[in-house]
Amino acid sequence: MTLIDTLRSALGASHVLTGDDTARYASDWTNVYQAAPLAVVRPANTEEVATAVRIAAKAGVAVVPVGGNTGLCGGAHAPGALMISLERMNRVREIRPDARIAVVEAGVVLDALHAAARAHDLIFPLSFGARGSAMIGGCLSTNAGGVNVVRYGSTRHLCLGLEVVLASGEVLDLMTALRKDNSGYDLKDLFIGAEGTLGIITAATLQLAPAPSAYASAMVALPTLGDALSLLNRLQSATGGAVEAFEYIPGATVEALVAHFDGMRPPFQRTYDVNILVEVGATAPCDATPLADGTLPIVTYLEEVLGQMLENGTVIDAVVARNEAQRVEMWARREGMAEVALAHRPFVNTDISVPLDRVQAFLDSMAPRLAEVDPGARTLVVAHLGDGNVHYTVQASRDEAGLLDAILEAVEDRALALGGSFSAEHGIGISKLASMRRRKNPVALSVMREIKTALDPQGVMNPGKVLPDA
Ligand SMILES: Cc1cc2nc3c(=O)[nH]c(=O)nc-3n(C[C@H](O)[C@H](O)[C@H](O)COP(=O)(O)OP(=O)(O)OC[C@H]3O[C@@H](n4cnc5c(N)ncnc54)[C@H](O)[C@@H]3O)c2cc1C
Repeated sequence: MTLIDTLRSALGASHVLTGDDTARYASDWTNVYQAAPLAVVRPANTEEVATAVRIAAKAGVAVVPVGGNTGLCGGAHAPGALMISLERMNRVREIRPDARIAVVEAGVVLDALHAAARAHDLIFPLSFGARGSAMIGGCLSTNAGGVNVVRYGSTRHLCLGLEVVLASGEVLDLMTALRKDNSGYDLKDLFIGAEGTLGIITAATLQLAPAPSAYASAMVALPTLGDALSLLNRLQSATGGAVEAFEYIPGATVEALVAHFDGMRPPFQRTYDVNILVEVGATAPCDATPLADGTLPIVTYLEEVLGQMLENGTVIDAVVARNEAQRVEMWARREGMAEVALAHRPFVNTDISVPLDRVQAFLDSMAPRLAEVDPGARTLVVAHLGDGNVHYTVQASRDEAGLLDAILEAVEDRALALGGSFSAEHGIGISKLASMRRRKNPVALSVMREIKTALDPQGVMNPGKVLPDA
């Protein structure tokens, strides 16, 4: 029997796709990484994932897990490999409201988990523009960040337990719901952010949080990013750490968004350099219950801080959302950003992080450096300022590999010189392999290779991703 026949007899013919039926898996969201897989299997449960892995390993065929295929680094690129799509494993197995946990399969789409948690007045506090397609297995495997890290942390911080199919086909059951468990090495953390190179995540126990019953959202224009950090810190103090999102959208980015999307309006009549989308969430009833005049206390806290800063000139302008429609309009600008950034090619898409108080220094020092490397380049910047993660996208003047790499190197040089990282939230995939080789601590790289060899001696699990060749 051929490999495909063996898979069909084990998983059912309709769940082993080949040829044209694999087309929708063959390209990622950016259309940068395109390749035909050997086949795509769609297992229904953990045992079927393990069976598919065993069959592929026996045939010496590489295995590439795929969720929503929205990753931005080519991690699910699978030329000639067996793709294992988790899409049929899409059950929210249980929500335990008292323990504030959800037990889910890896193919649950982020939006679906949001809805399931909401039904219990809880939230799964991970959110970003691709939430309608990205799946929990993909979010865990990239350790996705998004817009709420300032309050709740990255996906890693929201995960209590995992179930993983190893390269051997064994199932590693780490599905604890414990918040404290010091029984040896924390193996779960090895698989989070490993982008499918160490095993296939099939299920997870995730932490939920109380749903804010009211939000205060605003677009704020400020003189400098230093003033923006004052706003963040003052709001954190005034609200007991209730800032849910703190996003920096420079004036040039606002202009690019408005030019790109029909009907999108700028937040202010004038263009300001520093614009912040800030959102504060109220979970305590005393912050979310309207006062006699109808205003919400959480909105009052925000307005009071903004008022004081307007008075002393550290805020220039501010628009506070008065209703859900206005809040949605504010978020549409932020969420349209990925599409705008990648619309003009060639681009160098970066995902760096620096300490919060060095974002301004990064941007200030990048402008002259980029002008030296590529005087004709344009930049589109957006940042999760609340966690120091800057997406500094450069639209280069020419599509030359040497130039694109020089731009990337310049961005990394500046980030690392300021104590930052070349990879904040999107993962490594293929696109950051060169950066891993030249930037990652060599001892750390060698430990990672030893872990990879121990768990996947045959090298079948998503080969060619995350770890550059030795
Ligand atoms: C419009 C847009 C906005 C985005 N915004 C953000 C953002 O703000 N923050 C952010 O962090 N990311 C963002 N992303 C990137 C992306 O959505 C995330 O990386 C997401 O976590 C990927 O999930 P996915 O299911 O699509 O994974 P995929 O793209 O399918 O896979 C990503 C990687 O994980 C591996 N993988 C997938 N499933 C499994 C599994 N079950 N077990 C083991 N490995 C697996 C794949 O092999 C691949 O290496 C954005 C993407 C888009 C398109």
